[in-house]
Amino acid sequence: FIFSSCTKINTEQAEVYKDPTASIDARVQDLLSRMTLEEKIAQMNQLVSPSHMRIAEDELTVEELHSNDQLGFYPGIHSSDVLKMTEKGLIGSFLHVLTASEANELQTLAKKSRLGIPLLIGIDAIHGNGLTVGATIYPTSISIASTFQESLAEKMSIETAHEMRATGSHWAFTPNIDVARDARWGRVGETFGEDPYLVGNMGVAMIKGLQQGDFTGRDKVIACAKHLVGGGEPINGTNAAPTELSYRTLKEVHFPPYERAIKEANVFSIMMAHNEINGIPCHSNSFLMQDLMREEYGFDGFYVSDWRDIERLHSLHHVAENEDDAFALSISSGMDMHMHGPAFVPSMVESVKEGKVSEARINEACAKILEVKFRLGLFEQPFVDESKIDEQVFTKAHQATALEIARKSVILLKNDNILPLNTNKYKNIFITGPNADNQTILGDWASPQPEEHVVTVKQGLEKLSSKYGFNLDYFDCGQMVYKVSESAVNKAAQRAKKADLAVVVVGENSMRHHWREKTCGENTDRAHINLVGRQLELVQKIQKTGTPVVVIYVNGRPIGEPWIEENVAATIEAWEPGSFGGQALAEILLGEVNPSGKLPISIPRTVGQGKVYYSQKPSYFYQSFRFTPNTPLYAFGYGLSYTNFEISQPKLDKEEITAADQLKVTVSVKNTGPVAGDEVVQLYIRDDYSSVTRPIKELKHYQRVSLKAGETKEVSFLISKDDLAFYDQKMNWIVEQGTFTVMVGNSSLDKDLKTVQFNLKETTTLNVN
Ligand code: BGC
Repeated sequence: FIFSSCTKINTEQAEVYKDPTASIDARVQDLLSRMTLEEKIAQMNQLVSPSHMRIAEDELTVEELHSNDQLGFYPGIHSSDVLKMTEKGLIGSFLHVLTASEANELQTLAKKSRLGIPLLIGIDAIHGNGLTVGATIYPTSISIASTFQESLAEKMSIETAHEMRATGSHWAFTPNIDVARDARWGRVGETFGEDPYLVGNMGVAMIKGLQQGDFTGRDKVIACAKHLVGGGEPINGTNAAPTELSYRTLKEVHFPPYERAIKEANVFSIMMAHNEINGIPCHSNSFLMQDLMREEYGFDGFYVSDWRDIERLHSLHHVAENEDDAFALSISSGMDMHMHGPAFVPSMVESVKEGKVSEARINEACAKILEVKFRLGLFEQPFVDESKIDEQVFTKAHQATALEIARKSVILLKNDNILPLNTNKYKNIFITGPNADNQTILGDWASPQPEEHVVTVKQGLEKLSSKYGFNLDYFDCGQMVYKVSESAVNKAAQRAKKADLAVVVVGENSMRHHWREKTCGENTDRAHINLVGRQLELVQKIQKTGTPVVVIYVNGRPIGEPWIEENVAATIEAWEPGSFGGQALAEILLGEVNPSGKLPISIPRTVGQGKVYYSQKPSYFYQSFRFTPNTPLYAFGYGLSYTNFEISQPKLDKEEITAADQLKVTVSVKNTGPVAGDEVVQLYIRDDYSSVTRPIKELKHYQRVSLKAGETKEVSFLISKDDLAFYDQKMNWIVEQGTFTVMVGNSSLDKDLKTVQFNLKETTTLNVN
């Protein structure tokens, strides 16, 4: 419909928008026709919750407030003013409303406004609704990707949607489908890693779980694919730095997860990225927002800006001379909602009056936001029943999912025949390290949770000590990873000396409430990827005592410490494994659970190796570094088990195909070891010779299989044209005749892969640019 023709305020006709039996289109149209320009623009504006503002007002110094625009603070506006604005219908959305009672309070105010339009409440429910106290905290995204089982991502997301609706939120700022290709970047843990196919699979699963189709109903929420685009490959590894990527790399690596989020899962919102890309800030990038996402991929939802990034078109990127121009530029480029701050509404009203932004654009953006509110059922029921929260949050079923993901995501990196622990031999176990006994296992986007909701690594071992008959000695060497003191290191070593085995839990800290001290997470990037502070020294001194050492990393991005990998008996990558991470880790140490996680991102040996993702171009290491190997410390897809799997030579059902055919690849997988376990069978493809350079291998399929000791299963994959296609010199999407190599195995390392070739008969253009 042509909104600009129906903007005359219409109060006499029947209030169709209040009629739940009317179509959503009719309701939207009717409501729009009743709204003033200011009311419509207010729907496009989001503020942080008054309670969040109050934290800033109460706890921070004036300097901190003024110097840090990451905080929920608006100079000159108090949280009490925000309540009045809500009652006047001058706010369309809030973010970070952390309790059901605040959500109800705000919705009550919104209901009193002239048209009674309910609020849309958004929250960073990235791995569970973690910012709220009492929520189930699932392992972070990098852990979920490490399971290589997207059904778990979907299950987690369905449960997260229930927990969100129970506490009054309707919009999850997730999934983060950035392809992460720089270990220095503090947000790696928020992503699904380095591979576009795995990232796309996990992203699609999460959106499906959150939205469950058209998200109509009371237990669903809208998802938000973010951040469009390229922030996972910043020029210097720091968050929001410029991204310089060729159009080819964007098309091959960074756009596909968005294309799939739209086409396969109908994601209803997209958040733009902090960064500029090839010279154009994402927040004013009409090519991305309109030409690519809407026109080419068919995006039908709405865009939200990232945290005050429209303002930064002026203050940071200098593409707008003032904030008013910045707002006008972004909205005209296709942006629909502004996060966050009160200045947007009066400024945009003026811009429309001056003709800088068309009212049709405002109507279009506002209509999408209203559509969401109708579909979510907010006009009928904006409130939540506070007495029902306990039935819906941190339920037994949700706890079980969080534990299952933790068990399946932990990655065994190294094991010199020491794990699982033989407690007849290791009767006295010592545990230390800054992450051994605290909530860093919860990761970023989580508030501190009630102690009884979380099992730390130390507590996990403690709980199993009587069952396995070992004594546990714990030494608190300090809780902040970079503050472990020299005397704590020495004391820890003395204590370790008396033990039969030492477990040292090191890593990073990405917890938000430690924002002054964290070492990882958003806006916490590093120029090194080693352990911060004295953590390496802690491991080294304990190792020197002669007591065997098991190192557990709790971290939100790759840590490269070659000394540890060369010297200690066993190492485990736990990432940030959530509420029950400590339980899962203890079960793995003792052999109750067989580790089965696989790395969704390569771990470099040193920061100087740069981007060591596995799908390199053939000449990537034509010349190697002097003194440093080309290979990563640990490769994508890698992860050990307590059993051994033998994957057979892959068999093909045809030797030659055309673009119209499907090719079946079959392998048998045998558990040749002593215990049951899961293996992730991975299939990579290389186009042997092609008219443009292609990666040396690309993941195209994978499957997690569970096998009892001695059991064999057959696993097959179907290869079709889309697994073989690429962009030719003119950027047409084609498959090219010639041979392809199929590689199947249990990591991306050549030594772990068995190969077979087939021939594609003729070149076919699948899509003309
Ligand atoms: C982050 C987003 C997040 C938003 C709201 C930003 O700084 O980049 O990922 O959704 O804050 O908290």
